Amino acid sequence: MSKKIKLTDKGVEFLKKVQELSGEIITLCEQCGTCTGGCPYVDQMDITPSQIMRKTMLGQTDVLDSQTMWICASCFTCTVRCPRMLDVSKVSEALRQVKLREAVDKINIDGISDEDAKELPSIAVVSAFRKFTG
Ligand code: SF4
Ligand code: SF4
Repeated sequence: MSKKIKLTDKGVEFLKKVQELSGEIITLCEQCGTCTGGCPYVDQMDITPSQIMRKTMLGQTDVLDSQTMWICASCFTCTVRCPRMLDVSKVSEALRQVKLREAVDKINIDGISDEDAKELPSIAVVSAFRKFTG
């Protein structure tokens, strides 16, 4: 007999927020691990894409401390393979939004030297600002 897990009020609120922002019904995830198995960036992540889904489903806000949502490149490999048609990249994006809305930027714009700014491709700079700053 499976034991029912009860989320805290904070956990329920967190899950609702991420579901609203991502448009994904995260509780449909069956934890099959297919997303993790095919992710080309999983070696760089501190927790796997399926763990991102699990933690969010359980309302565990410490998922926001993970680096995985920042490393996800929205390549959609997991999305096309997920048996539940879930889009993990949208969940990662929603988690980034929750974090960035706390006014916590992932990169420090002032930390980029003039020299580096000249060398970096402008499209990379614009993409980085969109992804890593609120
Ligand atoms: S592939 Fe889909 S159902 Fe399987 S663990 Fe990943 S998100 Fe969940
Ligand atoms: S969309 Fe993100 S989590 Fe999914 S396979 Fe690509 S990098 Fe990995």
